[in-house]
Amino acid sequence: MHFFTYKGNKFYAEGVSIEKIVKEVGTPCYIYSHKTLIRHYHAFDEAFASVPHLICYSVKANSNIAILKTFINEGGGVDIVSGGELYRALKAGVNPKKVVYSGVGKRADEIEYALKTGILMFNVESPEELRAIDRIAKRLKKKAGIAIRVNPDVDPKTHPYISTGLKKNKFGIETSRAIQEYVYAKNNLKNVIPIGVDCHIGSQITQISPFADALKKTKQIISTLRNEGIDIKYLDMGGGLGITYKDEDAPHPSKYGKAVIDATKGLNITLIFEPGRIMVGNAGILVTKVLYTKQGTEKNFVIVDAAMNDLARPSLYGSYHAIKPVTHPTPPFNKGGGEIIADVVGPVCESGDFFAKDRPLPAFKSGELMALMSAGAYGFSMSSNYNSRPRACEVMVKGNKFSIIRERESYKDLIKGEKRLK
Ligand SMILES: *Cc1c(COP(=O)(O)O)cnc(C)c1O
Repeated sequence: MHFFTYKGNKFYAEGVSIEKIVKEVGTPCYIYSHKTLIRHYHAFDEAFASVPHLICYSVKANSNIAILKTFINEGGGVDIVSGGELYRALKAGVNPKKVVYSGVGKRADEIEYALKTGILMFNVESPEELRAIDRIAKRLKKKAGIAIRVNPDVDPKTHPYISTGLKKNKFGIETSRAIQEYVYAKNNLKNVIPIGVDCHIGSQITQISPFADALKKTKQIISTLRNEGIDIKYLDMGGGLGITYKDEDAPHPSKYGKAVIDATKGLNITLIFEPGRIMVGNAGILVTKVLYTKQGTEKNFVIVDAAMNDLARPSLYGSYHAIKPVTHPTPPFNKGGGEIIADVVGPVCESGDFFAKDRPLPAFKSGELMALMSAGAYGFSMSSNYNSRPRACEVMVKGNKFSIIRERESYKDLIKGEKRLK
């Protein structure tokens, strides 16, 4: 559910026409709907209203500080995977006691930064990392709350690049070894305090069963640990709930909530969630301008001014983003096409630089605007300067107003910190 709609033949974000925004900020630009962000946060929060829980938004999905602030204002915390994300979250005003820190490769300086900040817990991904955290905490005379990220070996049935809970994946520690590590920590590591169990199995998951399978395993671990006298207070379920990009039948958070609540009844625990995509994915679009159209011998091409450096998902995962014309001659136009079959491609010098392949589309002409839908998650946050393209600006719409929440980069920004030498 989102608040991007046609009014007549003009496409709007909430109460503001996309054309009007583009007139002021240019293209390509990311546009987010504040009302959609709030709605998504509350849909998730309400799904767990009957049990103690904490929503730690996964910063990497979209790390703009205005987006972070939106969720923080609603009472949310964050899930971070780097010192840079911690910095952003603190700038946005997060309560350190609502920060969890995931990732397989935390550096010593990042661990130190997080300890000094006083975060809730580290989601530990290897035995060596566990010892490193203990060592650094000891030097700083701090205690580190930890959860071990267990790898439950369940198949999330999603794209292989975003599956993380299989034995062959680099993430987490397998179950029996994880239990040994908890016991080792309790007996030997005086500066880490095991307080949680963590499990994140992947992303864009559109079925409940993989979560249920993972939950079965983590519950067993929790009861084993409690029998060992380790006081587990938090069960971190990670993120991963999928969204509808095209025709996926993604479960509503309330369905996920019911399954999780039923399965954890009597466990007496605070649930932590790290949702990313489901919070921001459908709350953002990427607006781009058609530069040229061209008829090849085999294909039609619509060449636009956004590229894989702005939105990498199609190149990375072959993923689908719906395309809507910002203005269409036959209102109301919202079915997504039919007039031509074309590839939508960007200016970057790679054949992987595309947004759509063989897509039925309205007959876009040079100068017209198109919206790439569902671009709020892993869109701007994955963007780069490849081909020396300044990164797009980001805009937040709130009712009838809009604000630039990140300026378009300039050519000067492109060479910031570079030295020409002699
Ligand atoms: C990426 C990630 C998330 C968020 O995943 P979504 O699919 O966007 O909800 C949560 N936790 C961890 C550890 C992650 O790596």
